[in-house]
Amino acid sequence: MARRFVAGEGLDEALGAARVCNDHGMLVSLDYLGENVASTADAQHARDAYLEVFEKIAEQRLHANVSCKLTALGMDLSTEFCEGLVHSIVERAAATDNFLRVDMEGSAYTERTIELVKRVRSQSPAIGTVIQAYLYRSEQDVQDLLAYGCRIRLCKGAYKESADVAFEKKADVDANYVRLMQLLLPSGFYHGIATHDPRMIGATIRCAAENKISKDDFEFQMLYGVRVDLQRRLVRDGYRVRVYIPYGNDWFPYFMRRLAERPANVGFFIRNFFR
Ligand SMILES: Cc1cc2nc3c(=O)[nH]c(=O)nc-3n(C[C@H](O)[C@H](O)[C@H](O)COP(=O)(O)OP(=O)(O)OC[C@H]3O[C@@H](n4cnc5c(N)ncnc54)[C@H](O)[C@@H]3O)c2cc1C
Repeated sequence: MARRFVAGEGLDEALGAARVCNDHGMLVSLDYLGENVASTADAQHARDAYLEVFEKIAEQRLHANVSCKLTALGMDLSTEFCEGLVHSIVERAAATDNFLRVDMEGSAYTERTIELVKRVRSQSPAIGTVIQAYLYRSEQDVQDLLAYGCRIRLCKGAYKESADVAFEKKADVDANYVRLMQLLLPSGFYHGIATHDPRMIGATIRCAAENKISKDDFEFQMLYGVRVDLQRRLVRDGYRVRVYIPYGNDWFPYFMRRLAERPANVGFFIRNFFR
């Protein structure tokens, strides 16, 4: 059942899914799943997996970049250690003319993620990160990262957060999403607008038209297995669409977030389980 959202456990399955997306005119971001590793050996193993995926993308001439989580690279163990691994991955990204996107995790990691990305970004442009519209702090973070010329993926946010740090009502998150998108699009840098929400997509298309921003100067991003109809429609309309393709053994937390963000998915899961 997780297969709806996860390409498979092995890299070959993920590369196959990426090829299919490319054949449909879509770009890809490959994510080797993993988070909150408990040992430096596990973090180094994740680093090796990311190095390998950049090699394969180059070898197979895929239109794909890579997404990673800092807690998969040992952020819980030591920021310095984690940063060293990120450096080596970004070096490989730059050497293969590619790009590493650092996903944003729960709010306990926001500050450390942004600071680490800024430090690495000051040495190589081949890294960017993610901003979550549900956090109150995000507008400040957007301004901060733009000052570094950092490419940003804007999403709503997928973790359970308290009202101390995040908007609770969907309407407030959506309003902030539109506000942040309106800061990103005219900024002159290439950003990713990650959402399946037709209202956010409509607002982005209007903002681009009003500011005469070309369809090639930003991209929509969506998750593997979610609103494939919409992904293909946007491609037909001439927009750039990137599909986030997760793979690997450690799929359970990712799968649970996909169930949690949409109650209908739990019904789908239960029906299929009993079938
Ligand atoms: C490319 C990409 C990368 C992301 N990276 C991060 C990240 O680094 N950190 C982070 O916190 N979050 C990340 N997210 C998740 C994001 O924060 C949201 O939780 C998720 O995208 C749902 O929000 P939405 O914008 O689609 O809007 P919503 O209002 O939640 O959903 C709009 C519509 O989209 C469809 N939809 C949304 N989610 C699902 C689902 N799981 N299953 C089926 N249909 C669905 C439904 O039709 C729904 O009505 C990412 C999302 C994308 C697309």
